[in-house]
Amino acid sequence: MHDHASSWIPSAGHNGFSLDHLPYCAFLRPETGDTRLGVGIGEYVLDLRDLNERGLLSELSADTRAALHAPNLNSLAGLGPRAWLPLRRRLQYLLTAQGNGLIERETAKSLLSMGELRYQMPVSPGDYTDFYASIHHATHVGRLFRPQNPLLANYKYLPIAYHGRCSTLVPSGTPVPRPQGQMGPAEGPPQFAPSRRLDYELELGLIVGPGNDLGQPIGIAEAEAHIFGVCLVNDWSARDIQAWEYQPLGPFLGKNFATSLGCWVTPWAALEPYRVAAAARPPGDPKPLPYLDSRPNRERGGLDLQLEVWLETEKMRRQGHGPVRLCAVSTRELYWTPAQMIAHHTSNGCRLRPGDLLATGTVSGDTSDALGCLLELTQGGQNPIRLPGDESRAFLEAGDEVTLRGSARSPAGEMLVLGDCAGRIVN
Ligand code: CA
Repeated sequence: MHDHASSWIPSAGHNGFSLDHLPYCAFLRPETGDTRLGVGIGEYVLDLRDLNERGLLSELSADTRAALHAPNLNSLAGLGPRAWLPLRRRLQYLLTAQGNGLIERETAKSLLSMGELRYQMPVSPGDYTDFYASIHHATHVGRLFRPQNPLLANYKYLPIAYHGRCSTLVPSGTPVPRPQGQMGPAEGPPQFAPSRRLDYELELGLIVGPGNDLGQPIGIAEAEAHIFGVCLVNDWSARDIQAWEYQPLGPFLGKNFATSLGCWVTPWAALEPYRVAAAARPPGDPKPLPYLDSRPNRERGGLDLQLEVWLETEKMRRQGHGPVRLCAVSTRELYWTPAQMIAHHTSNGCRLRPGDLLATGTVSGDTSDALGCLLELTQGGQNPIRLPGDESRAFLEAGDEVTLRGSARSPAGEMLVLGDCAGRIVN
């Protein structure tokens, strides 16, 4: 832990980008137009390639320094904690400098103003898997379809997931076109038309670190060494397309038209002060099978991040209302932990590769102010929400902008803010 006051950057920590956070990004270097890796500190981005070229990272391993010249975080993620932790310590040292004016002056030459940069996808995932780890979400959605039997028999035994698609992953800020698709009407033949039930999903993404070889499962004890970091994810969903197509093989075109990622990856190590026990299983729930269970996972496998959804419509923007918050929920309520997701995903020998994206699935709580998608919030569109300016929404309309936010506060009062994940529906 570092004392925030000891950084020579005055804004460090004021915006949740402190010395203890140091989130990673990929940005366009304005003069050259090439993509660089950076670290956020206060209102600045530290250009890691530039820093290395100034000789300030020479004590790090050659493969670590080479990874900092890449256009995304995949190579760095692949090196594992043996590279991540020395890099993190070195950056914290440079940004504190302990009264060394030379180090401070040299490091400052690699700083750029955060607000003036354009950001890219921080990673280039080779695979994207979307889980269903919130039991509240699974119960609420299940109830819409099966009021008597919302949770299927497998839910409490394994972390349910499906394989998503990487080709339509986009960085925060990218406009989201409304998909067309086939929908089953109440009667008559199905129609092909623009989706009328467009929704967002509030999720936390895990960026995979080294990963595993084919046929070599990652045990639950090692699972967290394979998590490079986290970012916010919006898994945009077309509920009408989804409802018609999803049986028997699961989500397809109702999900893969766009998925937005936050541009900042919070290092796994930075989440240490916000670790909590895995959510307690209610009496009568089965114990996880041995490969999904460990004492460290029960005691510290959870994360207490506060996630939020904010919505601003075109009319609200015109009238200057500003966005409204639709949801606030903690990740501590997830039924399955990140380590369990990784242990289960690889339990059959499936490979995870550096930079892969695993998402938690919609994060919801059990109260009406903690529902992570409109499907739950409006009970399938039956009860539209009221908005300022006399508007209402059952699902998203053209011009609606959805922003996911995340933050955490430690018992010691430290604040960490995840990079936003925003997207606007364009038609
Ligand atoms: Ca999802």
